[in-house]
Amino acid sequence: MHITQALLHWYDGSRRELAFRGTRDPYRVWLSEIMLQQTRAQTVEGYYRRFLAQFPDVYALARADEQAVLKAWEGLGYYSRARNLHRAAQVIANELGGQFPDTAEELQKLPGIGPYTAAAVASIAFDQPVPAIDGNLIRVLSRLYLVEEDAGIPSVKRRLYQLGLGLMPAARAGDMNQALMDLGATICLPGTPDCGVCPVSGYCLAYKEGEPERLPVLPRKKPPREIPVAVVLLRHGNKIFVTRRSQALLKGLYVFYLLEQEDMAGIRRHLATRGIRPVSLAEIGQARHIFTHRVWQMRMYLCDVADDTMPGEGQWVTKEEMDALPFPTAMKAAGGWADTLLG
Ligand code: SF4
Repeated sequence: MHITQALLHWYDGSRRELAFRGTRDPYRVWLSEIMLQQTRAQTVEGYYRRFLAQFPDVYALARADEQAVLKAWEGLGYYSRARNLHRAAQVIANELGGQFPDTAEELQKLPGIGPYTAAAVASIAFDQPVPAIDGNLIRVLSRLYLVEEDAGIPSVKRRLYQLGLGLMPAARAGDMNQALMDLGATICLPGTPDCGVCPVSGYCLAYKEGEPERLPVLPRKKPPREIPVAVVLLRHGNKIFVTRRSQALLKGLYVFYLLEQEDMAGIRRHLATRGIRPVSLAEIGQARHIFTHRVWQMRMYLCDVADDTMPGEGQWVTKEEMDALPFPTAMKAAGGWADTLLG
């Protein structure tokens, strides 16, 4: 038996039963693959079901208001995924007659679809024999074939792609990609792989060599930048001030009044320049949120104000109005405070 047959055989008996498995509908495959970027499969399942109930096909998603799409995505993070999903649905519905492109090359022309997602959709929905190379596959392939060079180097990436391509069967390419993904997610784990139960240990060069856990060799990541952020809960009566982000990070989502690098005195000075008169200002808690390249070290403040002068673009909202708006996970702790303060 060859690695491919051994893996497909194992996959037939041991695959993970997940809500988004067992379909070849490109809309569903695409949706699940976008959700699975950066998010664990178990977390994705619930979001996937709810999202499909609300937007059952590409036309429903294309017609939707962006705010409704972001609301359905609330808590999943990496919101550019949702905005791109929405834009790509509009291209498919309005320009491609509702038909998904059926090759990885064409799929990559859509917003938010990179080489990995294109290959996953093309192989699972259209049986195109292309490997879907993500962190899981890099690990599994580096170990199977003892690739000891840095996987961030373009020539090494190309080699890994070719090795993956060599494993693709003429039929069932989608199952093969999913078998490799499952192997990476359940057995060939980062850290300590469970080689004793691996269906392809007999072919694995790193296993033979004796130290599979040292692979893959990955480029060293820069630590994320720490940024102090003041989250100011401006309250006037039973309303709180919120603003819709226009910056690339968290674009389109609602946040409380945010100020970078400000302490209490800085907040007072800043508000004064906006014509805001605090009746009281107090620190109420701290929180931390990790993005890909930065960490927000948040200090939260409650600031009661004398009137409804706005410090900038935004709106005063009641608790009910606030609950209907999409907020990012970064605002979870502050949102909890806002709920209590308005409740
Ligand atoms: S034998 Fe071990 S290192 Fe090799 S593919 Fe299997 S789990 Fe991974």
